[in-house]
Amino acid sequence: MTTTTISMFMSRLTQPLTNNVPISNVPKLNVMRQIQKEKVVLIMGATGAGKSKLSVDLATLCFPSEIINSDKIQVYEGLDIVTNKISKQEQKGVPHHLLGTQDPNIDFTSYDFCDMSLGAIDSITRREHLPIIVGGSNSYLEALIDDDDYKFRSRYEFCCLWVDVKMGVLDSYVQKRVDQMLLNGMVNELRPFFNNNNNINNKDYSIGIRKAIGVPEFDEYFRKEDVVDEETKQRLLDEAINEVKVNTCNLARKQYGKIQRLRNVKRWKIHRLDATPVFQKHGQEEANKAWNKLVLEPSAMIIAKFLYN
Ligand code: ATP
Repeated sequence: MTTTTISMFMSRLTQPLTNNVPISNVPKLNVMRQIQKEKVVLIMGATGAGKSKLSVDLATLCFPSEIINSDKIQVYEGLDIVTNKISKQEQKGVPHHLLGTQDPNIDFTSYDFCDMSLGAIDSITRREHLPIIVGGSNSYLEALIDDDDYKFRSRYEFCCLWVDVKMGVLDSYVQKRVDQMLLNGMVNELRPFFNNNNNINNKDYSIGIRKAIGVPEFDEYFRKEDVVDEETKQRLLDEAINEVKVNTCNLARKQYGKIQRLRNVKRWKIHRLDATPVFQKHGQEEANKAWNKLVLEPSAMIIAKFLYN
């Protein structure tokens, strides 16, 4: 995104050259245009840390923005509860790109992500909005920023925010979140997925949305739920739920490790916001206050500095 001043500056540069501009000035202007890069914000963090909330808060309270999803499972259409997609209500009218838009039976690769996110960034900046890329798939971000033939870095400057929550604290939160997903209808959402004739004999969990945590873990339960007694059925259900919890905690650790690598090995400048106290507060009001003080306000300051300096 450009600030108003920067956009005015840019639009002056893109206006047709008047007749009295000597031709020798043209390359100089082009050079200036190349120097002025558009700005993009990245929000990273482990699953459950509050990345989506931060992006919507920034977009609704601070900077006119649009959000690009970089969670490699949430890009697919379907399984909204299982994959924890942000609801329409939580989106608060902020446009979201690459969220639930892709065919769930076909792999959406890092190459696809680079291609489509660059297109989205371009259209968002043309609308004079700030593109905020949000999601836990750090391999998508790395592909976009470091592996994409310099396409991203040559055109954009980026600022990374990392919403960090101490692992032990996050563990108990994501486990409770799984219980909430069950109350929200996770099992009923998965059942048609397994009962579908195309899926019943398919034990390959390496393609598309089938990779989502919550799908392979429920395989045995759905294969057997109609042929076993109630006690066994309950045991299989409990085992599936437990596996989802364990795998989600493991995912959070893996994501944490990848952010550390981008920071320490790839030398990305990543601003860490410690949201741990937000998760330790009792009561919504206290948690909101801590969120604003420890996460939202410092993030807004960092972005303002990035945009306007
Ligand atoms: P990797 O290269 O290991 O796939 P990554 O950084 O590209 O890592 P992650 O976001 O860490 O991608 O996702 C890794 C795996 O975690 C996914 O393949 C999927 O099994 C699971 N996963 C990620 N996001 C979700 C989600 N929203 N819902 C369910 N499972 C998810």
